[in-house]
Amino acid sequence: MEKRKVGFIGCGKMAQAMVNGMLQSSFSQREDILASTKSVKSAEIVKEAFHIETILDNKQVARFADVLIIAVKPHLYGEVLQEISSYVKEETIIITIAAGIDLTYIESQMSEKTKVIRSMPNTPSLVGEGMTVFCANDRINEEEIAFIKEMFASFGQVEMVDESLMDYIPAISGSSPAYVYMFIEALADGGVRSGIPREKAYKLAAQSVLGAAKMVLETGKHPGILKDEVCTPGGATIEAITTLEQHQFRGTILAAMESCDRKNRKMQ
Ligand code: NAP
Repeated sequence: MEKRKVGFIGCGKMAQAMVNGMLQSSFSQREDILASTKSVKSAEIVKEAFHIETILDNKQVARFADVLIIAVKPHLYGEVLQEISSYVKEETIIITIAAGIDLTYIESQMSEKTKVIRSMPNTPSLVGEGMTVFCANDRINEEEIAFIKEMFASFGQVEMVDESLMDYIPAISGSSPAYVYMFIEALADGGVRSGIPREKAYKLAAQSVLGAAKMVLETGKHPGILKDEVCTPGGATIEAITTLEQHQFRGTILAAMESCDRKNRKMQ
């Protein structure tokens, strides 16, 4: 597949996770990535961490890129797009990673001919276990879709969906690592409460979450069946499950996802 130069406008937590994944998997070479940040300090930190070129000039990144990833906070998209619109090459693919920024918005800020991918990655991309969901506008051809899938797959799993579903992706995979970290932290706190050393408690909790996730993905069994398999009749696990249900564990997660959706809609 044809190599493409990848530009990042903004190189914070999410962009760094993607850069690391792309380099670790050898999808991109260092010289094929250029990133811009707002401050000298961030530019230096990113350069030092990933040995890629970093600059303070968004227009130069726009000219360089065959694939241009806009990795600034959602409220900065308008000003950044205005700044770069006349420097982006016609064949360049623009990738958004912000909740609520839709394909039509980018086309309205650039041109109807602009090739646009709307995506929602997550930070586990840093360790090659990201989940990226995306959709494309009708300017993107089959070869470009294949390239984009390969790029996202270089730092995790990838799914293409209809744009009508994109507003709901942050709650399930973009933001959800934060809920899972809270769950791991709570499990570890419970372990520490029982006398397990803190570092061991994090390992036990995190590996159990990783293992459970792999069981869902690799056995193909329904999560409810896997849960049943851990519960001995009359045993201690079903006691724990009872307490979780009494405190609306699943209902609380569903409510949290609904508030995430609501907030994302408000930001549009
Ligand atoms: P972040 O860590 O705050 O990084 C933002 C980056 O944008 C920084 O490098 C910042 O540079 C740069 N920046 C600010 N203004 C700029 C400008 N005018 N021109 C060029 N660069 C500029 O934010 P983040 O968490 O990576 O989020 C970035 C985007 O990813 C957001 O739209 C967010 O919704 C999306 N996203 C994030 C996650 C996540 O888990 N973090 C997941 C999915 C999607 P300085 O450091 O120099 O200010």
